[in-house]
Amino acid sequence: MFDLAPYNTFRLNVKSADGAVITNVAELDHFHADNALILGHGSDVLFTDDFSGTVLVNQIKSLSVEKLENGKFLVKAGSGLILDELIESLIAQGIYGLENLSLIPGTVGAAPIQNVGAYGVEIGDLIKEVVVYDLQRHIQEVYSKEQCEFGYRDSYFKRNKARPLLITQVVFELSSTFNPKAEYSGLKGITFKTPQELRNKVIELRKCKLPDPKLVGNAGSFFKNPIVSKELASTLKQKYQDMPVYEFDETSMKLAAGWLIEKAGCKGITHGNVGTWEHQSLVIVNRGEAKPHEVVALAKYIMAEVFNKFGIKLEPEVRTYDSKGEVSWDRL
Ligand SMILES: Cc1cc2nc3c(=O)[nH]c(=O)nc-3n(C[C@H](O)[C@H](O)[C@H](O)COP(=O)(O)OP(=O)(O)OC[C@H]3O[C@@H](n4cnc5c(N)ncnc54)[C@H](O)[C@@H]3O)c2cc1C
Repeated sequence: MFDLAPYNTFRLNVKSADGAVITNVAELDHFHADNALILGHGSDVLFTDDFSGTVLVNQIKSLSVEKLENGKFLVKAGSGLILDELIESLIAQGIYGLENLSLIPGTVGAAPIQNVGAYGVEIGDLIKEVVVYDLQRHIQEVYSKEQCEFGYRDSYFKRNKARPLLITQVVFELSSTFNPKAEYSGLKGITFKTPQELRNKVIELRKCKLPDPKLVGNAGSFFKNPIVSKELASTLKQKYQDMPVYEFDETSMKLAAGWLIEKAGCKGITHGNVGTWEHQSLVIVNRGEAKPHEVVALAKYIMAEVFNKFGIKLEPEVRTYDSKGEVSWDRL
């Protein structure tokens, strides 16, 4: 058995039948796709049971930086690097663009999968290519930015269930000039003279709102912010005037799942060994020796409370696995 406790930030005591830590692409030739699950840092996963297959923990940590003729930098980052460590080292080398994503836990290779985003920047905006290893055909392929089909917490890789692809490298095109993106609430109105100042502010804001997974088990935002029609958003806004709504696209608005959860009475609650974080209701936390079924039960309770109050179905953002593989919440 392979212990998954060090590889899930919820700190659930789960195991897989087998497992291996991968440090270079050549090692992947020995593994077959059947019942394999790829993990980075485990900061976006929930295991509802022990996993019956093989877990591949990705720690491919290569890095190369090339200055282009247009003055930009091509950064080829091994997918097992820790994203926040990469951002810190790039700032030190005078390479900018990723500062708003500071302190998001996890590996570089997992970031394109749900197109991680924070403070007005999504990682897909800065990606040029993604290199993958097909665990069935044992070949490497390059996906252009367009082929990645980035969307809100979404990409081709998240939707693709047919082909077992392990992201081995992410290629970024980054700038040597600092153009701060400071439109998002918390950053707006502040003049950032250096990328380090922007990074420090993002880290400060995140530390106020989010629990540190090293101290309190959690997987970040448990639910996605719901995207609803403009008509529904306007009807709700008339009823709840302090409800935050954000423009999403021409026909839809984004609501704040954390606000909905709070107004449904679920902020800071505790059910057994699990609860919601006092400073951000969107985060489900392990308050001690939580069992997977307790996390599932609390998430379902929150979904039911929000639905009863607002008629909105929350969707989990966290990738959820049972003994056989990824599982849809309708089946839990
Ligand atoms: C405190 C906290 C705050 C967070 N804040 C944010 C935030 O602000 N914005 C945001 O977008 N997310 C946030 N997250 C979620 C999480 O950090 C991201 O989803 C991150 O990209 C997960 O990286 P990981 O290496 O831990 O991936 P894992 O949890 O290990 O894996 C996540 C998924 O990606 C797959 N996967 C992982 N690596 C690879 C690979 N190399 N190739 C193919 N598939 C792979 C896994 O199979 C799994 O389905 C937060 C999480 C925490 C705990």
